[in-house]
Amino acid sequence: MRVVMRSTRFDRCSWPAVLAVLEQGLVPRRVQAGFASSLDDVRIGDLVLYSFASSMAETVRSEIEALRTRLGDALLSIAGGPHPSADPDGVLAMGFRWVCVGEAGPSFVAVARSLLDGTVPAPGALHDPPQELDRYPAWPTHTELFAPVEISRGCPHACAYCQTPSLFGRRMRHRSVEALESTLRRGVEAGHRYTRFVSPNAFAYGSSDGRTPDIAAVRRLLEAARRSGMSGVFLGTFPSEVRPESVSDELLCLVRDLCDNRSIAVGLQSGSDRVLRAIRRGHTAGQGREAIARIASRGFEPRVDFIFGLPGETDGDRAATREMVERLASEYGARVHLHRFVALPGTLFAGQPPAPLDSVTEKWIADQVGLGRVAGVKRRAPSTRIVRSSNWREMRLAPGPGRD
Ligand code: SF4
Repeated sequence: MRVVMRSTRFDRCSWPAVLAVLEQGLVPRRVQAGFASSLDDVRIGDLVLYSFASSMAETVRSEIEALRTRLGDALLSIAGGPHPSADPDGVLAMGFRWVCVGEAGPSFVAVARSLLDGTVPAPGALHDPPQELDRYPAWPTHTELFAPVEISRGCPHACAYCQTPSLFGRRMRHRSVEALESTLRRGVEAGHRYTRFVSPNAFAYGSSDGRTPDIAAVRRLLEAARRSGMSGVFLGTFPSEVRPESVSDELLCLVRDLCDNRSIAVGLQSGSDRVLRAIRRGHTAGQGREAIARIASRGFEPRVDFIFGLPGETDGDRAATREMVERLASEYGARVHLHRFVALPGTLFAGQPPAPLDSVTEKWIADQVGLGRVAGVKRRAPSTRIVRSSNWREMRLAPGPGRD
């Protein structure tokens, strides 16, 4: 059976983990997996996978319609990722046969196994309970498909705009140092040289409550990454970040001594304490400033995210954010990324319109971008491009232990 992935610019980190789940579960039968460069690559009998965010929904809908027109009921398709998890019924109505809600796990494998056995399971949403991260490796064993390694999943916080708690739960789970080291060693043997770590809060790695940093655990993580032979190790950089209240001198020194970072990414979101309370961020603007000052004092470039247009935001709130952005840039050399709020399904703000931006803020944003003081204004959700690689790229998965 062929497992055909349609990839967007923003889901590349997902596929190695998805293939690792399949590899662990589909044994001893072999599956061919690959990225489809166009819809014409999809054939009857293929299992077609999409993983997508809300901004991709319309693009994916039109692709599924086209596939269904050509293949009819023979189309075998599974959707996963943030949007399908938040709106499984809507995605089933698009024409997908199955939707993975939350994490790909045993029920995803069970569907693939049934198809290999020649049985097409009933359509519907697939629910798996949260998995311990060590259950599945970060990458498949026998492909050269790598991505930043997810070291933690789930978040105890509940920011009103964020899908993470509803997707992965509020208990933060961590990949063990032992599992991580063996994953990284395999990567090094295959020629992979740089590793970045993915976590809702990289400085909360190993934390039992997901809030209080466990400095010894972070040290063990980074020492293992160094032992693995990786020549570049990055913690607290894109595509991850750290929460401001978890920034401490001890953790910054660890990163300085054991990593290759020149920057640390922090989400602050607003300069207004009123907005920070309303969006349930769990920290104040003052804590944000302190974190940025500390990061800069240890020689790192602070990279800071803010969101404009959060529901209920007033002109006064935006003035506070503008002032904070200017101060962080001028006093600490912070590089600021500005985002416009987009309501995501599955969040407390789902369905809410963005607060309209006043003309002062619009002009200020244009000025800041023109002056190169901020990295640009992005929609909170990514764009809608399907990546069209030039060829069907096939990866043969290794026979795994077959547990699920
Ligand atoms: S924005 Fe970050 S801290 Fe807030 S809920 Fe999402 S992952 Fe957690």
